[in-house]
Amino acid sequence: MTPSDRSRVAIYPGSFDPITYGHEDIVRRGLDFVDRMIIAVARTSTHQKRGLFTIEERVEMVREVFAGEERVEVKAFDGLLVDFAREHGSRLLIRGLRAVSDFEYEFQMALMNRKLLPGVETVFLAPDVQYSFLSASLVREIASLGGSVDAFVSPVVRDRLVAKFRERAS
Ligand code: ADP
Repeated sequence: MTPSDRSRVAIYPGSFDPITYGHEDIVRRGLDFVDRMIIAVARTSTHQKRGLFTIEERVEMVREVFAGEERVEVKAFDGLLVDFAREHGSRLLIRGLRAVSDFEYEFQMALMNRKLLPGVETVFLAPDVQYSFLSASLVREIASLGGSVDAFVSPVVRDRLVAKFRERAS
C-alpha cells in the first residue's frame, strides 16, 4: 500500500445554490481530520424545486471560493451519491447539521446510503453558531429582494448573486 492509498478522502455533497459561509465553515472543519475533500455538487436534488444557478455556475463559484486550497476538489455529480463515493475511493460522507430540523432527513439519508453501500459512513459537523441559521435558500431570497448578503457569502458569490438578479430584472 502506498501512502496515497491510505489518504482519507471525504465527500461533501449538496446543492450549493450558492455556496455560503455555512458550507465553507463545514469544509474547513472537515479538513482538520481528512486529507482531501471532494465537494460534490448534485445535478439532481430530491428536495429542491428549481435552482437559481446552473450546476456549472455553482461549481465555478465553489472553485473560486476554495482557489488556493489544494486539498479541496470540486465536481458535479449525477445519480447516486454512493456510486460517486465508490468511484472516488471514498467511504466518508460529510454533512452539516444546523438544527434539529435537519436531523430527520439527514439521519434517513445516512442510513439509506449505508444500506446502499455497506461501509459508507456519514459524519455530521455542526457549524459555528453564527451560521446555524443560514441556508442557501434564505440567501437567495434576501438577494432577490435587494438585501445585503455580505455577512453570509464570499464576495465572489455576492457579486454573482447581484449580477444574476440584475440580469433577471432586465
Ligand atoms: P442548503 O440546505 O443551504 O440548500 P445544501 O443542500 O447545499 O444546502 O447542503 C449541503 C450540506 O450542507 C447539508 O448537509 C446541509 O445541512 C449543510 N449546510 C447547509 N448550510 C449550512 C450551514 N449554514 N451550516 C452548516 N451546514 C450547512
